[in-house]
Amino acid sequence: MPEQSNIIRLPGLIDVHVHLRDPGQTQKEDFTSGTSAAVAGGFVTVVDMPNNAEPITTVERLKNKRKVAEEKTISDIGFHYGSLGDNLDTFEEAAKLSVGLKLYLNNTTGGYLLDAKHLKKIYAAWPKNKVVLLHVEEDVIDVAIESMKDLKRPIHVCHMPSKEILEKIIKAKAAGYPVTCGVCPHHLFLTNDDVETLGSYGKMLPSLKTKTDQEYLWDHLDNIDIFESDHAPHTHEEKKEGAHGVPGLETTLPLLLTAEKQGRITREQIIEKCFTKPAEIFNLKTDDDSYVEVSMEEYVIDNKDLKTKCGWSPFHGQKVTGKVLKTVIRGEVVYENGEIKTKPGSGKVIES
Ligand SMILES: [Zn+2]
Repeated sequence: MPEQSNIIRLPGLIDVHVHLRDPGQTQKEDFTSGTSAAVAGGFVTVVDMPNNAEPITTVERLKNKRKVAEEKTISDIGFHYGSLGDNLDTFEEAAKLSVGLKLYLNNTTGGYLLDAKHLKKIYAAWPKNKVVLLHVEEDVIDVAIESMKDLKRPIHVCHMPSKEILEKIIKAKAAGYPVTCGVCPHHLFLTNDDVETLGSYGKMLPSLKTKTDQEYLWDHLDNIDIFESDHAPHTHEEKKEGAHGVPGLETTLPLLLTAEKQGRITREQIIEKCFTKPAEIFNLKTDDDSYVEVSMEEYVIDNKDLKTKCGWSPFHGQKVTGKVLKTVIRGEVVYENGEIKTKPGSGKVIES
């Protein structure tokens, strides 16, 4: 048993960017397996993206998705709504059931792509107190930033992978644009060199970038508002066929605590970017009785220990420090020593 002094307590973490694939693609993940991975990784609240097999761009689909989650979720879960620019009349009702609105300006899983010319009218129609999240890569970042000029509503740029994008966001922030941004652990802990060994398991969107990009992200942690896993599982078969995306819920915290031990990030920064800021930016409730206990012991990430249905991680075989021992939600132990301690459906589906 680890010594008591080796155990740290953190607030229950929040990940505002996951793809739990339910309903529609439950061969990859479902609400129970995905939220089991969440609590096993120290996350008590996740927010799921709208690029399901049938994109969540109607209130009916959103309501159905919430109903499916109510019966299956282990952690608390909220949802981002989607738009291709043709469902603005549904925004008022959808916003009441959503955390944010996600727009894809680059092609991704689901082939769900928005023309930037629709941005202005979408910004105007989505309630001002709720975030619009953007998937933008190098080719569309200028258009995206231009669209935020004089805007009086919050915009969040997801999963910034590169120096080029972060530089532009830093400039936009300095110029007073209402933008926040997130970075994924895989862009902090892997580079394009790793694709040689990982093969298709190192493929995601945005793709892994160079060592220079990675160093730039680490050197500018203060400009990064949040960490988001972009947990995007696919089966082995699908990966072999070229599917983009990697799971991340169970590896984010141990990777960050390992970096803390190496002096690359502080405990305060981890809490800020995985708890305080996500709650603040996305208006998510937190609870003092939701917390995580982590043993600061070394262990090796192993595919066979994972709760995610896909059953693999690009970090398989890596030695890390920081093993989640226990996760508690509103006073109830939901995960302890490798086991889920609660029933599917015991987590909360977040209201507006
Ligand atoms: Zn994503």
